Amino acid sequence: MKYQEEFRNSGAVQRLLAEIRETVTRPWSLMEVCGGQTHSILRNGLDQLLPKEIRLIHGPGCPVCVTPLVAIDRALAIAARPGVIFCSFGDMLRVPGSDKDLFRIKSEGGDVRIVYSPLDAVKIARENPGREVVFFAIGFETTAPANAMAIEVARQQSIRNFSALVSHVLVPPAIEAILSSPATRVNAFLAAGHVCSVMGTWEYPPLAEKYHVPIVVTGFEPYDLLAGILACVRQLERGEARVENAYERAVSEQGNLPAQALLSRVFTTIDRAWRGIGVIPRSGWALSDAYRDFDAEHRFSVGGIVANESPLCHSGEVLQGLLKPNQCPAFGKQCTPRTPLGATMVSNEGACSAYYNYGRLIAAEELLCSAK
Ligand code: SF4
Repeated sequence: MKYQEEFRNSGAVQRLLAEIRETVTRPWSLMEVCGGQTHSILRNGLDQLLPKEIRLIHGPGCPVCVTPLVAIDRALAIAARPGVIFCSFGDMLRVPGSDKDLFRIKSEGGDVRIVYSPLDAVKIARENPGREVVFFAIGFETTAPANAMAIEVARQQSIRNFSALVSHVLVPPAIEAILSSPATRVNAFLAAGHVCSVMGTWEYPPLAEKYHVPIVVTGFEPYDLLAGILACVRQLERGEARVENAYERAVSEQGNLPAQALLSRVFTTIDRAWRGIGVIPRSGWALSDAYRDFDAEHRFSVGGIVANESPLCHSGEVLQGLLKPNQCPAFGKQCTPRTPLGATMVSNEGACSAYYNYGRLIAAEELLCSAK
């Protein structure tokens, strides 16, 4: 198959669904790590087409959702300073901090700008030498190379009024944290294809072996997702636990080596707090010592800020697959996309937002009860 429509073809999708139905004999819980995959699953109704033995758990792979509250509060503190131009991708502007969001800062007179590339922020810095320009660099291994490149460009061009507020997170340590939790219910993982297009698949075999779980690299179209699910189910039914690549058109074992070299030069691995989950060892990137001059956290001395989550929000349990969004008591009541209490309701990739937008408004257990 070559064209996008082929990966959405109803006949091809039905054939894979039939194969999954023929293969599965027992209940299995599969986690799709990536929020983009969660949205594709719900948008295409795949969760409702799969046999009842297969339970999909929506993992912590939405970068906006897992950016810790304290990072949002630091962004708010920097963006509110006179003379600062704060640049961010648009989806971060509505993410609630402890008491406001970046849109509020903008409405109060802060110079907050939406950019479509980190290089746009570098350009703004070049054009405004008298202002401090800060880029909010968040996300997984997918967005990190472009952010690293922007910081490298600023360094090479001696643009000293540019800095980055960095809160990058890494997928393999998060998978390990989920697998090592005594509460985990995950039998297999659909690994995120775009992350692996950068990092390759070489980080996953030790995890598959140590925890005896299949890990299948999967894309984002309905055919890709079902092919990944079928590969997981086949392995589980046979008692196997290997890494498989079901997204070969974009992912190789080694990944993008020039991007990996840039990342290891610009960033250093640190323990990172994930929103709603807590600190996961060696799960984040911060700027390395060689690039410290471009670190906004250091430049604006916002490291001392502490933050508290809303007690009503259960996004941590949602992000770990312990709770479905529609099982949260605030879902669709106090918490909607217009009045989000947590980041999983704000972001387009967040599981709570996906459940709200695609009509999964009532928990499956309640549906069963009302049908009796
Ligand atoms: S529905 Fe809202 S309050 Fe509940 S977990 Fe999701 S974001 Fe948090």
